[in-house]
Amino acid sequence: MDRQRILRWLRRVGNGVEDLLFPDRSECVCCGGWSGGAYLCGDCVRQLEQLRMVSQPAKKWLHPPAGGADPMRVYSVWMHVHEARRLVLKLKFRHHSAAAGVIAPYMAEIIRPCSPDTVVTWAATAPDHVRQRGWDHGEELARAVAKELGLPCEPLLARVNTSHLRAQRGLTAEKRMKNVRNTYASLRPVTEPVILVDDVITTGATALECVRTLQRAGCPDVRVLTATQAVMK
Ligand SMILES: [Zn+2]
Repeated sequence: MDRQRILRWLRRVGNGVEDLLFPDRSECVCCGGWSGGAYLCGDCVRQLEQLRMVSQPAKKWLHPPAGGADPMRVYSVWMHVHEARRLVLKLKFRHHSAAAGVIAPYMAEIIRPCSPDTVVTWAATAPDHVRQRGWDHGEELARAVAKELGLPCEPLLARVNTSHLRAQRGLTAEKRMKNVRNTYASLRPVTEPVILVDDVITTGATALECVRTLQRAGCPDVRVLTATQAVMK
C-alpha cells in the first residue's frame, strides 16, 4: 500500500515536472502524433466523437450479465474499438495519467445529473496487478471522473479471497461470474448513491459482483460508468 502510494506520488510529481519543462505538450495522448499542445490531435478528437455517435444507443443499457438474475445500469461512452480502445490501453498499461484526464469529461457527461451526495468509487484492482504495474488505473480514472463531477471519490470496495482467482481474460462469461464471486468486500456501510467507475466492461461479471457487494452494504442506488464496452467473442 505504501509502495503504491509512493509510486503514485512519484508519477504525479514526474508528470508535473514534465508539464513545467515542456509546457506545450505536442504529442497526442491517443496516437502519439503532433497535437499542437493539446492532449489530443484534431484527428483523434474527430474519431472519438464519431465513435461516440456510433456507440450512442449503447451508452445506457441494462447489462444482463451471464448467470446474473438482476440487470444493472451501465453507462459507457464508446465501444472498445479504435481510438477509444487505444486510450483505455494507454491508461491501463502505459500509466498515462493524461489519458484519464482526456477520458473523464466524456464519462462525466453521460452520467449527469447526479445527486450531490453521490460517491464515486472503483472496482479495486487485484493487489498483485497493482504491484506489478505500480498503479491502479481504476482509481486514477475514478478520481478524474469525480473531479470532473465535483463529487467525492472514495475507496468503498476491497479485494478479498483473491488466492483462488484466475485472470478473467480468456474465460467464458459464465466462468467469469463464478471466478469473481465473493471476491469483494465493502469497506464501510454505504448509504449514499454510488457511481462505480471502470475502464472497460466486458461480460459485466466483475461489475455485477461489485454492485451486489455495494447493495449488501446498504447502497440504495448504484450506476456503473465505463469508458468503453467490449463485446465478447
Ligand atoms: Zn491523435
